[in-house]
Amino acid sequence: MTDPLRDRQDAAAALERVFRAAGPYLDGLHDLPVHDVSAEELADSLGGPLPEKGAGTLAGIDRLVQVATQAATHSSGPRFFHLVVGGSTPAAMAADWTTSLIDQVAGLNVSSPLAARVETIALDWLKELFGIPASFGGVITPSATLAHVTGLACARAWWAERHGVDVVAQGLAGLPAMPVLTSGLVHASTRKALQILGCGRDTLRMFARDDTGRVDLPALEAALAELDGAPAVIVGNLGEVYAGDSDPLDAMADLAERYGAWLHVDGAFGLFAAVSPRTAALAAGLDRADSITGDGHKWLNVPYDTGFSFIRNPSDQVRAFGGWGASYLPEAPGARVDYNTLGPESSRRARAFPVWATLNAYGRDGYRAMVERHLDVAEHLGRLVDEAPDFELLAPVQLCIVCFRYAPPGVPEDRLDALNAELGEALLGDGRVFAGMANYRGRKVLRCAIVNWRTTEPDVELLLTVLREVAADLAADDRP
Ligand SMILES: *Cc1c(COP(=O)(O)O)cnc(C)c1O
Repeated sequence: MTDPLRDRQDAAAALERVFRAAGPYLDGLHDLPVHDVSAEELADSLGGPLPEKGAGTLAGIDRLVQVATQAATHSSGPRFFHLVVGGSTPAAMAADWTTSLIDQVAGLNVSSPLAARVETIALDWLKELFGIPASFGGVITPSATLAHVTGLACARAWWAERHGVDVVAQGLAGLPAMPVLTSGLVHASTRKALQILGCGRDTLRMFARDDTGRVDLPALEAALAELDGAPAVIVGNLGEVYAGDSDPLDAMADLAERYGAWLHVDGAFGLFAAVSPRTAALAAGLDRADSITGDGHKWLNVPYDTGFSFIRNPSDQVRAFGGWGASYLPEAPGARVDYNTLGPESSRRARAFPVWATLNAYGRDGYRAMVERHLDVAEHLGRLVDEAPDFELLAPVQLCIVCFRYAPPGVPEDRLDALNAELGEALLGDGRVFAGMANYRGRKVLRCAIVNWRTTEPDVELLLTVLREVAADLAADDRP
């Protein structure tokens, strides 16, 4: 029998096995393909019936480490440009191991004053980093999606109160639909949050001036005026995933002020615009938002999963989430905070340690250097694409996003969508470097997000090399 009580002396030895694998794995990440063709088969090799008699701690961990380091998608390496995926800085990764080691229950101050206090410190540092006023409340969430749920739940309670309803106690019955107005830059996760909150994902209204999705402010204002004083929510988007575009937050904040609306900002990765003077203007007006969403596992480069929500009035958080006779936030510095009364989770992981560790290790300067390196790498890729006869840049490079397609001379326009769709598939099959396929402005495009601390110029140069090789293979296959 391998009862964990009997096997407990193996805990440190098991950790040592992970540690011993870590060095070679991390050193190898730079040269590993993003994806190994045998990954699925290897993963399946862990299956079979539930073991009646356990393998024991060390044997089990040895097997997992061996399979996992090989079958993992090496998205934390330098060449995963699909979606928006950060790596894990050395300090953040070590802090994540520490989090597992001490296994804190981070929801209640009584279960871990350490976790609660470090969360407060980490949130304070993030506010400083992004230029969000210190008076804002906040909470660490598993993701930007859950940060939207947090911010929009606060908005919903505010909105219902304006209709004379305590939505936390009574629910939405009898209320009209909550008006939510935004530009065409909105991310699908905002709809998902509205769907979770019972507000309906299709109630979102987009005001775009053209197919880039950029906001049509006069139309947005006209819609607010039509509401005739009824409360509404405006969603501003700082950093959009296809072309890196952003809404004019200051102008949206003016509208929110004029019409008494709630301003929610999605800055999942775009918040980091505030970190460099080169891009800080994009974040102007952020400090005027009522709720703000950010992601940790993207440009902050802490491990999955981590997001954060900031709320102008901390008491809105307590109203929306303080289900258990919670009192309002104590005002005194160093006060005891129960973070499970400030966000959607109850029992929760102490995600604050990696956030604290990475900000402590690299500071504002280190983050500014990293963000500016990514801006440079994105511009470099944009330039290479723009100058190449066989690629076409489809949007100006903004923040960390490059949007382009393969368009070799002689291929007619009506063939390009099919060609790029094929190429995108084949690129993922090749596995050396990942970029995403997307539909942008009616075209099939390739898009890259550069937010991993490991990524440098040769990594994006390799993307173009691999795309050309894969395209040549496809063309050879097509030849009769
Ligand atoms: C990634 C992203 C989200 C959702 O983030 P998750 O952490 O995956 O929930 C929301 N908005 C934007 C702009 C994003 O890039």
